Amino acid sequence: MNNALSFDIEEYFHAEVFSGVVRREEWSALESRVARTTELLLELLDEAATAATFFVLGWVAERQRGLIRRIAEGGHELACHGYGHQMITRLSRSEFASDVERAKGLIEETAGVGVVGYRAPTFSVVRETLWSLDVLADQGFQYDSSIFPIVHDRYGIPDAPRFPHRRTTPSGAEMAEFPMSTVARGRWRIPPFAPTAPPPPPCSHGRSSRRRTSTCRRRASSPRKPPRPIRRTPRRWPASPSCDWPKAITTARARRPSRRSRASPRMRAR
Ligand SMILES: [Zn+2]
Repeated sequence: MNNALSFDIEEYFHAEVFSGVVRREEWSALESRVARTTELLLELLDEAATAATFFVLGWVAERQRGLIRRIAEGGHELACHGYGHQMITRLSRSEFASDVERAKGLIEETAGVGVVGYRAPTFSVVRETLWSLDVLADQGFQYDSSIFPIVHDRYGIPDAPRFPHRRTTPSGAEMAEFPMSTVARGRWRIPPFAPTAPPPPPCSHGRSSRRRTSTCRRRASSPRKPPRPIRRTPRRWPASPSCDWPKAITTARARRPSRRSRASPRMRAR
């Protein structure tokens, strides 16, 4: 893997959380946003003179050939994110092999470069799917970047090494692994992008909440300074006749507490 910075190039509706509400047959009819957002990303990287690794979904490579070429022309590394964004846990060995082969072929043919890196949709290289590394080795991949060394209900190998390492696949092949970044907090490993509560606003003296004095707190709650109303901008989701976007978004939000409640007994047991 040539770069520490990496991106998965896919459409917003490919996210696993929408798999229950957006049918695959509908994907082609939905508004595409991947080109616009990736172009912006390329501009920012160019301004910062920084290169990155782009794990491209085969489905996107098939439809956005110009975009894939521009990524390669920008001096970035192209890698594979599979074709249909299906978690490996739902695929048989032969289905996974076909999915990866199709995506790798599309990216290589479009950009004219060799693809040696893979990242699984939804980080689904887990203990039960380590056989997938054999398939990757058979197809000429040199590294994988799918293992998330955390506790999670959908993915993760909690005791996997946190830093790049060499793995021996179940059939004895060698594969470099570049795990997702984590932050260690005592016994805990958390993703660096874990959602956290936003800090409280500073008081009228500009002091942060930790340095706030009782005077500050009194002034902050003074009726002379009514709180400013919160302006909410509604999210605009593309119209789809059969997709229940509100339900999909609610599902995404509801996952946070359920994930925590399911993971905590496993964490306590460790
Ligand atoms: Zn993805």
